[in-house]
Amino acid sequence: MKIAPFFAKVLVELDKAMQGTLNGTKIEGIAETISHFALASAVASMAAAVIPGAGGAMAAIAQAGFVWATYVKINKTVGLSMTTETAKFLANAIATNIITQYGALMAGHFVAGVLSFIPLFGSAGAALAEGAIGYGLIYAAAYVYLKLISRVIKPDGSIQVAEDDSTKKIIEEIMNREDMGGLFREGAKQFKEARTSGALDRAMKAHNCPDCGSPFNPGDHFCSVCGKDLTK
Ligand SMILES: [Zn+2]
Repeated sequence: MKIAPFFAKVLVELDKAMQGTLNGTKIEGIAETISHFALASAVASMAAAVIPGAGGAMAAIAQAGFVWATYVKINKTVGLSMTTETAKFLANAIATNIITQYGALMAGHFVAGVLSFIPLFGSAGAALAEGAIGYGLIYAAAYVYLKLISRVIKPDGSIQVAEDDSTKKIIEEIMNREDMGGLFREGAKQFKEARTSGALDRAMKAHNCPDCGSPFNPGDHFCSVCGKDLTK
């Protein structure tokens, strides 16, 4: 899997912070996780045809477990132990910050990226635009999260974040310093590639939990990550 330049950079930072313990397999695993959940989020956004407008799609994905499940899977891959509550707190804080500070900017980049390769407008185009936004939120939220853990991780690999405004302030600082527009453009490019390579179509046929996007096997009764009843 090709790793996008923004992520390549942040993964080098994380590797340094983790004393060089991020090997190729782990890096590949992180890239796959981000692409899996971003695509699952795109599919969920496209399916939710009732969502009124771009902000609605992002808010819905943020409320669902997609951002949180992405963090849980990244933690597992990297070997970070973090409580469920902390992962939920960070998912909520980061997603809310992206939506309120950069929502319009992000949606603009992602929707423009979609429209540039859809020949026809109409409902298919609208669904894809929603999908792009759903993809974008996971993409951006994963990036900010990797930046954050690179910054707060201890040499022994543990993480301690206060679940209060001091952590929200660090998140804000990170985002103010980053080229978020460039990140969104890169994300839109990745989404476009997923669409043209058939990865998005494959994700539409995959079995993913509707609440958190985690993959499950046909016949499973509950989601192994968020516990959703999959029989309903
Ligand atoms: Zn789930």
